[in-house]
Amino acid sequence: MHSLVYRSVANNSFGLPEIYKMLSKAKDYNAEHNITGCLLYHKHQFLQLLEGEKEKLDFLYSRILEDHRHQDIVLIENEESEYRIFPDWSMAFHDYGLNGHSGSLKLKQIELFLNKSNMFTTKSVSAIRFFSNVKEILV
Ligand code: FAD
Repeated sequence: MHSLVYRSVANNSFGLPEIYKMLSKAKDYNAEHNITGCLLYHKHQFLQLLEGEKEKLDFLYSRILEDHRHQDIVLIENEESEYRIFPDWSMAFHDYGLNGHSGSLKLKQIELFLNKSNMFTTKSVSAIRFFSNVKEILV
């Protein structure tokens, strides 16, 4: 089992409607290849965790690297891991800009975490811990 985390910046033409379209295909692909994870999006920034077999993640990541809908892609983590953080989610997606006031405390917590993620410039175990925290907040 492997976990891969990267961050990137969405291109201007890649807005929420296009992201949802991309996600509906991505979820099918991920489910078919037993890939799970979570994609966070905020203010044009993506932070994605992918979980699955190493070969499958490497192949998907090579496609993601070639995708012109985002740029400035930085690999943060690509390591063996003992378990999945999102075993039941073919790709959890959270755009916390869209949520209402009821979730504001949760949203602030995630924003704090995501701001911290800007500091993840190299491989870091804290990226995986970050997603464990995100899951606790989202669920
Ligand atoms: P194709 O579908 O053949 O597309 C080739 C290229 O054309 C793409 O790289 C893209 O630049 C462009 N393109 C494709 N569709 C459109 C469109 N509708 N509008 C404009 N340009 C387009 N895929 C997954 O399977 N699982 C994931 O978890 C996943 N996460 C992603 C996260 C992010 C932030 C982004 C940007 C993409 C993600 N993708 C994911 C999509 C992935 O990058 C590939 O597009 C997908 O795997 C299909 O690969 P392909 O080689 O068949 O590309």
